[in-house]
Formats: sequence, C-alpha cells, structure tokens
Amino acid sequence: MRATKKRKEIIELLKKEYWDAKAELDFTTPFELLVATILSAQATDVQVNKVTKELFKIAGTPETMALMSVNDMENSIKSIGLYKNKAKNLLAMSKILIEDYNSLVPDSIEELIKLPGVGRKTANVVVSNAFGVPAIAVDTHVFRVSNRLGLADANNVFETEKQLMQVIERPDWTMMHHCLIFHGRRICKARNPLCDICAFKEYCKYLKILSKKI
Ligand code: SF4
Repeated sequence: MRATKKRKEIIELLKKEYWDAKAELDFTTPFELLVATILSAQATDVQVNKVTKELFKIAGTPETMALMSVNDMENSIKSIGLYKNKAKNLLAMSKILIEDYNSLVPDSIEELIKLPGVGRKTANVVVSNAFGVPAIAVDTHVFRVSNRLGLADANNVFETEKQLMQVIERPDWTMMHHCLIFHGRRICKARNPLCDICAFKEYCKYLKILSKKI
C-alpha cells in the first residue's frame, strides 16, 4: 500500500474510532485552559481537574490569581507534579497578562510562548481549544502513537508536529490531536499497548517491527 494512501486511511479510521474525541481538561475561559494546561505537564487530566475545580473558585482570572501568595498557590496545587515551579510560573504569568496583555490571554503561539511555563505544546493546546485556530499539540501520546502508526517518522516533538501538519489536512489538525491522545490513552499505551484489540493493526509500523523481532 502506498504511504500516502495508507496515511489517509489511518486518519479516516482515527476519525471514525474517536469521533467523540475532545479536550479532557475542564475550563470555561481561555485563562482557565491556559492554567490547566500548564498544570497538566507530568500530571493526569483527572488530577488537574480536581485541583482547578477548587483553584478557579478563588483564582479564575489573572487579577485574582496575581493576588495569591506563593505559599497559597503551592498549597492549592501541591498534589500535582512540579508544583513549586508551576506555582511560580502561574503567578508570574498572571502578572504579565495584567501588565502586558490587558488581562487577556493572547491568541497566537508566538505571544503565548513568551509567557512563563508556556511551551509550544501548551500554546498549541490553547490556540486550538480556546480560540479555534487549527493546531497539533504534540504531547507524549501524540508523539508515541503517530510515530508507531507511521503518520510521522521523527525523533522529537517539533519534527513530529511539522510532519503531522504535512500529512493531515489543516481543518483536521485539532481533531486529530484529540484522536491520537484518545488512542494513546485507551489502546496504544506506552508500555503494553493493547495490540490484540487495536483497530490499526494492519497499518501499524511498530507492530510490524515487533513481529519481525519475535
Ligand atoms: S497495533 Fe499496537 S502499537 Fe500499533 S497502534 Fe495499535 S496498539 Fe499501538
């Protein structure tokens, strides 16, 4: 099967299998999504949603968050990995939003990555889910699944993002990001992927490599 045709079939099957894929972080505003995404590094969405449910009651805007002390912020988010760094970044980020962005979250990747604690992945998540700008945020699931399936062939997240943007139609970028995450969380797990029940067996580059080794 030719590579382009195969990739198109994988993309169509992902859409079919995960038609209900969507962001699993809870948020009601771009600011809440930005905070939740910063917190989500090395933490599960379930853990983050638990923390933000309480945090947003007292600090759901840059103004209210900027009023928190480092201690209070650390206590609010301490069940999350890297909480000390994240606390510092969230407070600094809130102040910058107030001072430089009129308390509004910028809607471009270029501006977002200037904020403390915001990398390219976080910026992609925010522009796509809060502002409807097509983007492919490459997290650990997107990186692993897209390279296993052969949608990408890269050894870093940035190269993976560039390759996925070539093979996936722009209007599908955000949806595909969610589909790849859903497949990674439910079936194509990092350790012990559930290949026996996987709908992508016939396409999977990784499975072919594994079969040759056995
Ligand atoms: S066959 Fe296995 S490795 Fe390949 S995509 Fe499915 S679960 Fe992942």
